[in-house]
Amino acid sequence: MTFKSINPFSQEIIAEYEALTNSQLNKKLELAETAFKNWKNTSSQERADKMQKLANILRANKEKLGLIITSEMGKIISESIGEVEKSASNCDYYAEHAEQMLKDVYYDTPFKSMSVYDPMGAVFAVMPWNYPFWQVLRYAAPAIMAGNVTLLKHASNVIGCAKAIENAFLEAGFPEGVFQHIGIEIGQVESVIAADIVHGITLTGSEGAGSSVAALAGKHIKKTVMELGGSDAFIVLNDANLEKAAEVAAHSRMLNAGQACICAKRFIVTEKVADEFVSLFAKSMQSLQQGDPLKKGIHLGPLARLDLAETLASQLEKSLKQGAKLVVGGEYENCNFQPTLIDFVAVDSVAFQEETFGPLATVIRAKDENDAVAIANNHRYGLAAAIWTEDREKAYKIARNIEAGNVFVNSLVRSDSRVPFGGVKKSGYGRELGAVGIKEFVNMKSVVIE
Ligand code: NAP
Repeated sequence: MTFKSINPFSQEIIAEYEALTNSQLNKKLELAETAFKNWKNTSSQERADKMQKLANILRANKEKLGLIITSEMGKIISESIGEVEKSASNCDYYAEHAEQMLKDVYYDTPFKSMSVYDPMGAVFAVMPWNYPFWQVLRYAAPAIMAGNVTLLKHASNVIGCAKAIENAFLEAGFPEGVFQHIGIEIGQVESVIAADIVHGITLTGSEGAGSSVAALAGKHIKKTVMELGGSDAFIVLNDANLEKAAEVAAHSRMLNAGQACICAKRFIVTEKVADEFVSLFAKSMQSLQQGDPLKKGIHLGPLARLDLAETLASQLEKSLKQGAKLVVGGEYENCNFQPTLIDFVAVDSVAFQEETFGPLATVIRAKDENDAVAIANNHRYGLAAAIWTEDREKAYKIARNIEAGNVFVNSLVRSDSRVPFGGVKKSGYGRELGAVGIKEFVNMKSVVIE
């Protein structure tokens, strides 16, 4: 099988890559095993020095690496460079804090007892194309700082990014086999999950891929972390700062051309302020420039693949037939989808029920605050949500009632190395980032000494 990297803006083929044969894959698994034997015994300091070097390499090459991201998946160049910088900061963070996070924990018992954190082996990662650097460094930096090695199966349209990340690890002095990109077909995934050296699996991607990989991991009794889809609610209440909310609403929906798991997707607005909010939101959306992702002044580029634009167009068409009203946009050509806003979206319509992965914002009108929270929770996904109100106490109470892994008040939902991140319901389980993220793939071993 051949993987093609296609520039979504120009539709040019950038490169073609052959999938690994089974015997090439076995060699990579053997290399991971050999590398782990040494890597697990390295000191925290040695790991931190290399991780810090990796961060510096990423930063020093951010323009070049950003260009690889933009040409393979189409996000605007400033966002690509920002993604490389953020990935570097995540390496800084775990280089600085991993040792402290994994310190032995002692218990109050009449005998000596403690927990120690041992590495597990290889972590197998299945990753998506939408943040092709950030998603990878987000799991790989803590996993490797904990003494694990890793095998990455990246999305098949961003193999150039996978290779660039692997090269950066080697340049930083990580021994061969500590971080390996493996260009494999879906049919080869089970053999990696089954391999003895693999003890943990992390997947960021769609619900379907998560369900399939988690089922295989269950069959082979391997620990998993699942970071899946979302349809985040953005709740606007009567007392919200509507101008600010509308400005952030457009930003939050159009981030990465609408292709982020934590893009706000369902804008749930109380009836009293809905007309005003929709009019401000429409204005913010109309001010966005779409075009060549390499040009200055462009706010959103193309979608990453043609099939994604076609799926979004079909979701829009069905939702309009189901009674939604088009306010802004609605057209697309090739991968370029206009920023689109629809209002009066019903809870049983496609735009509400399904994850919409592109620049389509849907407004749902709620009777009041309680109705808004009920609508937000009436969903299969539970990744994140935003609440807009000037009453911080009320916001806290609502936040506690929202069924999601992350709730932000009067702000854009975003990930941060210091703050645990993950979802509930069909958005997955487990947490990345922060001190809990590094503990997902370690053996927390109890040691008792009489
Ligand atoms: P995707 O189609 O599920 O692909 C993600 C990865 O899974 C790719 O490497 C893909 O490989 C692989 N894959 C697909 N089907 C598989 C299967 N049956 N078995 C094993 N691997 C499989 O998702 P995507 O379209 O790339 O990414 C968008 C999705 O990811 C959205 O739902 C988004 O919300 C979610 N996401 C979630 C988070 C989070 O933190 N929760 C973050 C980012 C994205 P191929 O490329 O070879 O098909």
